[in-house]
Amino acid sequence: MANINGKQVETPIIKVLDKGYVRLEAITGRDLTTVNSARVSYDKKSYEFSERDKKLIRFLAKHGHTSPFRHAFVTFEIYAPLMVARQWWKYIVGSDHSGDDFFRDPFTAWNESSRRYVTEIPQFYIVQPHEWRSAPENKKQGSGEPVDIKLGQQLTKQLINYVKLGEDLYEQALHNGVCAEQARLFLAAYGLYVRWYWSASLQGVAHMLNQRLAHDAQKEFQMYARAVYDLVIEHFPVSINELVKMADKAEKEGEQ
Ligand SMILES: Cc1cc2nc3c(=O)[nH]c(=O)nc-3n(C[C@H](O)[C@H](O)[C@H](O)COP(=O)(O)OP(=O)(O)OC[C@H]3O[C@@H](n4cnc5c(N)ncnc54)[C@H](O)[C@@H]3O)c2cc1C
Repeated sequence: MANINGKQVETPIIKVLDKGYVRLEAITGRDLTTVNSARVSYDKKSYEFSERDKKLIRFLAKHGHTSPFRHAFVTFEIYAPLMVARQWWKYIVGSDHSGDDFFRDPFTAWNESSRRYVTEIPQFYIVQPHEWRSAPENKKQGSGEPVDIKLGQQLTKQLINYVKLGEDLYEQALHNGVCAEQARLFLAAYGLYVRWYWSASLQGVAHMLNQRLAHDAQKEFQMYARAVYDLVIEHFPVSINELVKMADKAEKEGEQ
């Protein structure tokens, strides 16, 4: 369930990778929020979304009048490997809404399971044999073509063994009375799943989507960005369509 403009609404949980997901927690605002915040300077307000409103959003997005897109807010719950969380965490502007203290901490809108207190069973992203990618020819791309399946099988086996060794050492340390905050050092961190809440303005969400749906973003993050896109497009069809202009969007639309 998500709180959509004050109402509890059933919303999908979009599965990503082998164990991850993205879920909407809350939304305040809609396309009309963008329109009305832009029209306030003329003391005008729309109650039903019209073709004129659509044109206004297009105009605002095209000419970089971005502040009207900052009055709508979205909160997501995300479960992803730490390597994705580490990249997502960089989206800061438009995410620091929690409090009215002038010197507020810009990272306060990010809350994550740290494994300091909880000892919930660790979950890891295990790359399947056909999912391993080669180093790219162009260094600016993160990865290239899939590796040979035989090598993929070997790598998956090695990863599973490596993760298992870390888990065993972690369990052993806990068993010997070591605190969770230090025992976690044994866990294979980059693939460890973490759960967090991310809140951002509509503009902040669109900025992340533009960067992370693009072909040069890490594949795993691209998959999470697609899940975010699928969740928000329904609630902000015009604003997201106008703000998110990366090349891959066309590809995505083609798939539907
Ligand atoms: C393909 C790719 C590869 C990357 N590789 C690396 C890497 O190797 N190492 C690394 O550290 N990061 C890397 N990043 C992260 C990148 O540097 C950004 O931190 C991340 O994309 C967040 O973008 P942002 O700073 O625009 O976002 P936000 O912090 O959300 O900022 C949004 C926008 O606000 C404006 N803004 C933000 N801060 C200021 C300011 N102080 N003054 C004026 N305007 C401001 C800018 O217009 C900015 O685009 C990578 C990102 C991508 C997409």
